[in-house]
Parts: sequence; C-alpha cells; structure tokens
Amino acid sequence: MRLIDTAYIDGAFVPVTGEEELQIINPANERTIGSLRVASREDARRAIAVAHRAQEGLAKTAKAERLDMLTSLQDAILRRSDDIRDVTIEEYGAPVSRARWISRYASDCFGYAAEALRDYDFERRIGDATVRMEPVGVSALIAPWNAVSGTICSKLASALAGGCATVIKPSELSGLQSQVVAEALHGAGLPAGTFNIVNGRGKDVGDELSTNPDVARISFTGSTATGKIIARAAAETIKRVGLSLSGKSATIIMEDADLATAVPMALDGGFQNNGQACIAGTRILVPADRLNDVYALVRPAMARLKVGLPSDPNTAIGPLASAAQYERIQRFIARGLEQGAKLLAGGLGKPYGLDTGFFVKPTVFAEVSNDMDIAREEIFGPVLSIIPFRDEEDAIRIANDSAYGLEAYVYSIDPHRARCVADRLHTGSVLINQIAPDLRAPFGGVKQSGIGREFGHFGLEAFLEAKSIAGHYTRV
Ligand code: ADP
Repeated sequence: MRLIDTAYIDGAFVPVTGEEELQIINPANERTIGSLRVASREDARRAIAVAHRAQEGLAKTAKAERLDMLTSLQDAILRRSDDIRDVTIEEYGAPVSRARWISRYASDCFGYAAEALRDYDFERRIGDATVRMEPVGVSALIAPWNAVSGTICSKLASALAGGCATVIKPSELSGLQSQVVAEALHGAGLPAGTFNIVNGRGKDVGDELSTNPDVARISFTGSTATGKIIARAAAETIKRVGLSLSGKSATIIMEDADLATAVPMALDGGFQNNGQACIAGTRILVPADRLNDVYALVRPAMARLKVGLPSDPNTAIGPLASAAQYERIQRFIARGLEQGAKLLAGGLGKPYGLDTGFFVKPTVFAEVSNDMDIAREEIFGPVLSIIPFRDEEDAIRIANDSAYGLEAYVYSIDPHRARCVADRLHTGSVLINQIAPDLRAPFGGVKQSGIGREFGHFGLEAFLEAKSIAGHYTRV
C-alpha cells in the first residue's frame, strides 16, 4: 500500500493541501494498492507561480543547455524504466509487452525532442524582418490515464526543447504511475521550477491551469468532451491550446489486400492498449464481397486472443483500467446489440474464468452500419465494428463520415493505390500496411479529434511563438 500525498513543486516533493483521498485499485484483482491525496487549486496556483518564476531563466537557455537537460531526463527515466513498466502493469493493467513499450517510449521521447531541437533554427530572415521563435511561456500539460507516462514525458520534452517551464497535471486515476515518473524526472537534477507536477481533479487543478492568467499554453490529451471544456475556459485569457482528443479511426481493408496479413493487423490496431487508445482502428471497413473471407479469419484469431492477467507475458488484452470503464463498455456492447449489430466474437459480461478484475470480452461486431452508436462514438475499450463497403469511393466516404479525424489505417498490396486513398482521408495521420506510427512525425487530429500537432519539429513549434523584428539597425 502506498500513500501518495505530495506534489512536485520547485524541485521538491511537498505535501498537498487537498483533502480528498482516492483509492488506487489494481484492475486485475480489484484490490486496493494505494491511495492518492489529490492536490488542490491552491497547490496548482503555487506550482504556476513557481513555473512563472522559472520561465525567464529557461527562456534564456542556449540550445546546448536544453539538449543537456533532455539527455539528463532521458537517462533519468531509463534508470527507472523497470519500475515504470511494473507500475503500468499493476495500476493500469497493461499487458507486459505494452508496459515495456510505454516505459521505453517515456525515455525515447526525450531523444526525439533532442533530435528535433538540434537542427532547429530559432531565427530566420523573412523579407526585411528577422523572425525569432520565442518560448510561448508557462505551459500546462494535462495527461490522461490511458497513457500517462508517455504523455507526461513527450509533452515535457517538447516544452523544454522550446524553453517553456511547465506545470504537469497527470490523471488523478494514475496516481502510482505518475509518482514513479515524477521521482524519475526529479532524478535528472534539472533547475528547480523547470517542471512541476500537481495531481488533482480536473474541476479544480485542471480548471486552475485552464484559467490562470500566468499560464500561456495548454497542451491537453484526453476526451473531446473535456477538451471542449478546457478550450472554453482558456479562451478568457487567450491561451494557446493544443488538444489531442478522441478518435473513431477507420481501418480500410482494400479489395486487393492480403487478408491473411491485413486482418490480424487490423485486430491488433483495434485492440491496442486493451482498446483504450484514441488511435485504435475501431471501424474495420471491408469490401462487401469479401466479408465472409474476413469473418473466417476473424473468428479463429479471436479464439486465440488471450485475455488474462496483465503480468502474464502471453496476455494480449488485460483488464480495463477501472470499474467505470468496465460499465461503459458493457453499455456500448448492449447498445450495439439493441441497434441490430451481430456478434462475431465476445459480447456482454466477463470472459470465462475471469470473474474478479475489470476484464471484458474483446468484442467484434458484424453487420454494423456507420450510423450506429458503436460506429460513431469513441467506446474506448476492445470493441470493434466491421462495416462493409461497395467500392473505393464508398470506403472513403464511410471513413470520412465521422465527427472525428485522428488516425486511419489502409491495407492494400498496391502502394500507389493505398497512397491515393490516404490522401483523401480526413485524418491527422494515416498508416499504410502498418500499425506503429513514426513517433517523430507530427501527431494530432482534424475535426473533433483536436487542434495542433505534437512530436518532433511540429511539437517543438507548438511551444514557440514567432516574433518579427524589422527596421534599421543603424542609429536614426
Ligand atoms: P477520461 O474521460 O478518459 O478520464 P478526460 O478527458 O476526462 O479523460 O481526462 C483527461 C485529463 O483531463 C485528466 O488529467 C483529467 O483530470 C483532466 N480534466 C478533466 N476535467 C478537466 C477540466 N475541466 N479542466 C482541465 N482538465 C480536466
């Protein structure tokens, strides 16, 4: 049992002044493994004041100093990578392979940011003006529970590369993971105040970050509903707002695709991170005349898919992160059935032999039409929909018929054709015949999947503002 009752402010772990205590439950066995005393609005204000003080010094740092800081952070996270992996399994329920990936990514992202920073030109000439890219200022970084370690580290890496002091608000549902990451980051020995971590509720700590006039920018990852609240709150002080939000991504399996390869990959892309991924390919679009071939591959693949304890290396899908998530997924499966979709695999209730823990049956619906709720709303669990299409035009139309536009996946043996389809999809990214994105390429959504881009050069530039200086340098 661990009690987390501190925030990381001004280079030290200090007691929070909040009074509410949240139980931390291991989702695989429903046992209480710790508790988090949430930070208060007052704690957030203190952290913002400290970051505000640190901002001036940080803005003046040279590129070489920032590169050193990024390297120190990368090394510091690497030193705790086993702990990050283990706590991701214990608190979040990520299967071992996923947890290992998350802990590796948490350190790698500092390297990616350093790479982007190294060859970035902070000053250029445009017409008669000198254009200087300056830090936007104190930035609030708000992270969700489904990817807390990676989100904290990747946002911090870009902000620091841009010379911005930060206040980080992890999800209050990820107390243990955030604490391990905070301890690891502290080990980097950065100047006090450069980054601060305050874990509290959205309604007070999150709201303070969204409204405090000393915060210049918010970088948020989470649901579209919360993103809208933040954007509204931030408008009053005209904060710069970057939002990475929900998705309802389409996987298009073209007529010419090699189904034996494409179908298992489409399932992996849909079930990644126990299905709790904004980028999950949850609408699988299949040529109508190949539906039976696809079903014939999906059924045995689903029978082989191992749901179980996240600590078991053979497990592909662990428990969902919370009881609330379990209930949410049950509601969506019930709604899919009510609206006439047919179960190809999975369904309501818990998988056989897994009565304790927030386990759900990975579910694939067939005969789904794109206007059903299960095809329109982000479910955020392992529930996929197979939707037939007539031809390429129809596939593109269905894929684009969504309020969201985060990611899309295209499978075809013809690279030119796949590329033509990719060009017409309204999404922030498209992956062709692969499910792993390049994490140096820009990431973000169109439509209600977000505003702005993260990672690499684009992620760095999001923390910068252009200043034009024009005029005569001689005495007048
Ligand atoms: P989910 O619904 O999946 O928990 P959210 O989008 O609600 O995801 O949460 C993502 C992050 O946003 C969390 O850190 C959460 O505390 C924070 N948050 C929630 N509400 C607000 C708010 N009103 N203002 C700022 N942050 C918020």
